[in-house]
Amino acid sequence: MTVPLLDLHAQYTPLRQALLDAVTRVCDSQRFIGGPEVEGLERELSARLGYPHAVGLSSGTDAVLAALMALEIGPGDEVITPTYSFFATAGCVVRVGARPVLVDCEPDTFNIDVPQALAAITPRTKAIIPVHLFGQAAELKPIVDVAATQHVAVIEDAAQAIGCEYHGKPVGTWGAVGCFSFFPSKNLGAFGDAGFVTASDPAMAKKLTLIRTHGMEPKYYHHLVGANFRIDAVQAAVLRVKLPHLADWSAARRRNAQRYRAMFAGASLAEVTLPAEAPHRTHIYNQFVIRVPERDRLKAHLDRAGIGTEVYYPVPFHLQECFANLGYKRGAFPVAEAAATDSLALPIYPELTEAQQSTVVNAIRSFYRG
Ligand SMILES: *Cc1c(COP(=O)(O)O)cnc(C)c1O
Repeated sequence: MTVPLLDLHAQYTPLRQALLDAVTRVCDSQRFIGGPEVEGLERELSARLGYPHAVGLSSGTDAVLAALMALEIGPGDEVITPTYSFFATAGCVVRVGARPVLVDCEPDTFNIDVPQALAAITPRTKAIIPVHLFGQAAELKPIVDVAATQHVAVIEDAAQAIGCEYHGKPVGTWGAVGCFSFFPSKNLGAFGDAGFVTASDPAMAKKLTLIRTHGMEPKYYHHLVGANFRIDAVQAAVLRVKLPHLADWSAARRRNAQRYRAMFAGASLAEVTLPAEAPHRTHIYNQFVIRVPERDRLKAHLDRAGIGTEVYYPVPFHLQECFANLGYKRGAFPVAEAAATDSLALPIYPELTEAQQSTVVNAIRSFYRG
């Protein structure tokens, strides 16, 4: 039995006709930019999150970039981000000309180390970007509280965490702006690239809508320098078909996580450290990331057995070649460096079967026990 890391066909097959109908609707309308599908998606996302504004964008990366632009962050400014995340979190900071100030992550959740983040605030700090990594909420309250007193903006990178809650309130609704991705491997995936940002302040939402269309309103009158960060109507139509299923898919991912926990407990594998679930920080398992000794050899063993896994992420930001000029050295962030060496994401997608999960656990057991 092979077990892919992600099986998009399993999600597509039961929804195929509805998805094709939605795409056909857009094709028949020939309205590809803006229009009723985009407006409908934005309305439904905002209702779903119980939050005033959701602005559809071209990707999660552009969501982070647009947030930084809306907050007018640029040269001379510092933005605090974890060193352990997907590249976009820090890459966007560099793209606006600001300096990413990196901090380590928590060993048990992989999320931003809050005391370090707060200690890194200087008079030049304009924003902190907590990332809800792998679908688990970062510890937001102390960040939001301290940031407010220091006039530092909180930009939530919720790209992996749509529908995840912190103290019962969705992530992406705690900071000045929340950034989400609809990349196909995220919990709610488009048929290509797409994303959105959330905001509660109507002026911020307005600015974000201007930024996504070259700061233009009306046509050919430009209030600010933006970019083309628009979401396609086709993507919006696809996402509107999928959005009503998101809660069930997240519940299925959580069920699968519980099943892994029971199976690993039964296998009594002390080598395997399972992902922690911190109190009040819901985990919707965009990824189920274990920590293991001999990670690369285990990964090769699972590959040979037809089991898909992935390393998120093999190189923290501070050791990336493109950030060498930031001046960080190996050893600067030992928790992230250890995670880069021993973390491994297992298949966790909603349609994964119990038999597939038991295949995964047995294959890991056979690696350590022969
Ligand atoms: C996926 C992701 C992004 C970027 O989203 P794209 O839609 O792929 O551009 C940003 N931050 C994190 C943490 C992500 O996982």
